[in-house]
Amino acid sequence: MAAIEVINPATEQVLRSVEHTDAARVDDAVRRAQAAQRRWARLAPADRAGALRAFAAAVDAHIDELAALEVANSGHPIASAQWEAGNVRDVLQYYAASPERLSGKQIPVAGGIDVTFNEPMGVVGVITPWNFPMVIASWGIAPALAAGNAVLVKPAEWTPLTTMRLGELAVESGLDEDLLQVLPGQGPVVGERLVSHPGVRKIVFTGSTAVGKKVMTGAAAHVKRVTLELGGKSANIVFADCDLERAAATAPAGVFDNAGQDCCARSRILVQRNVYDRFMELLEPAVKGVVVGDPSSRDTEMGPLVSAAHRAKVASYVPDDAPVAFRGTAPAGPGYWFAPTVLTPQRTDRSVTEEIFGPVVTVLAFDDEHDAIALANDTAYGLSGSIWTDDLSRALRVSRAVEAGNLSVNSHSSVRYHTPFGGFKQSGLGRELGPDAPLHFTETKNVFIAIKEA
Ligand code: NAD
Repeated sequence: MAAIEVINPATEQVLRSVEHTDAARVDDAVRRAQAAQRRWARLAPADRAGALRAFAAAVDAHIDELAALEVANSGHPIASAQWEAGNVRDVLQYYAASPERLSGKQIPVAGGIDVTFNEPMGVVGVITPWNFPMVIASWGIAPALAAGNAVLVKPAEWTPLTTMRLGELAVESGLDEDLLQVLPGQGPVVGERLVSHPGVRKIVFTGSTAVGKKVMTGAAAHVKRVTLELGGKSANIVFADCDLERAAATAPAGVFDNAGQDCCARSRILVQRNVYDRFMELLEPAVKGVVVGDPSSRDTEMGPLVSAAHRAKVASYVPDDAPVAFRGTAPAGPGYWFAPTVLTPQRTDRSVTEEIFGPVVTVLAFDDEHDAIALANDTAYGLSGSIWTDDLSRALRVSRAVEAGNLSVNSHSSVRYHTPFGGFKQSGLGRELGPDAPLHFTETKNVFIAIKEA
């Protein structure tokens, strides 16, 4: 079995070596998960709810450990990593309420009664990216388990450690060891086998749009269900009538959080032309003030990029002749650092049209509401976005017109575990989180029961 060395991106030191799962081991995991799923689905709903609450409690008792592991493996600032571990606990707790609430329907019919059951699908495969490893894994794991399924998780090659630890905590909390299995390994081996295996009934894939299309193609061979959470190139639209100081002060966090390695990053700032110069004056100190450095320090706001290869990709968007307006700072020495960077390119430049997934933001001017909407929608993506205006009617008009799944007005919030999350267009298919997520891991079965005439 091959292994991969997992590296601390802030120090470039090897953390440990992780064995990669091969296709035969995936097949074995599917067999064991199928048996575990049948045992799990037979449990009383209250017992499944209790088991998920126990899993949440185990995560809660290990918040510091999980956070430290994410700091080391992914370079996330400690404050962010602690929020992420807490989010995993909250997601598990929230969906622990579902087993007792998946009640189906009773529909009026002639000649009998008609009821629907929300049947579990069986074994679900969850394939995750490296940017928010444990959080994104939990968004698939928790509602899938709550709906009575078994789950096989394939973490990203570079960042498997917190997901592997979550798998251990599930077992320590009392879950059957075959019910939730973490299978570290390569996308083209483990990921592809999960997609092609007929015993895996649904794939939740979070990652790039290119690989998401492959997953969808592979899933079609079995008419396998898919949820796809893919790339983004979200707009942060700043109208002249907004609180410009706040819009400028918060714009860096809207794009540079997690060093821009965020599918919801507001990586295109669109500013109304008559306030463009003032906005840039306000943005400059905000960008230069972003604290970039040691992720284990509580003051740090932005850590390194995840790997040397990824830093090289991000750097390709900032060649020597790039239209750099200004940059923040980054440490010298070991670590995959990249300073926050603000570009003012033409509308057609690749830095405007492609997802960079790093701390690089483009700022473009627009003329009026119509131009802003056209510019915001001029992309194959449609994941998130922000709208800054103090005009309520405009806020609503633009919110309805922007083709994206998650918008925020006068803020940059996108993801709450109790509201639905997902993308329009090539940003994805289906929705995660929110009250309906467990239903997306069930099949609706309709049963008609005839009543004999007396
Ligand atoms: P990626 O597509 O390269 O990899 C994602 C996962 O897919 C990894 O686990 C990888 O090993 C696996 N994989 C690779 N090839 C595969 C194959 N042929 N079959 C099955 N699985 C395969 O993405 P990444 O570089 O890890 O993550 C960055 C991307 O993820 C960005 O585009 C980002 O926007 C996106 N993302 C989206 C969301 C969202 O919710 N919409 C959230 C986070 C990240």
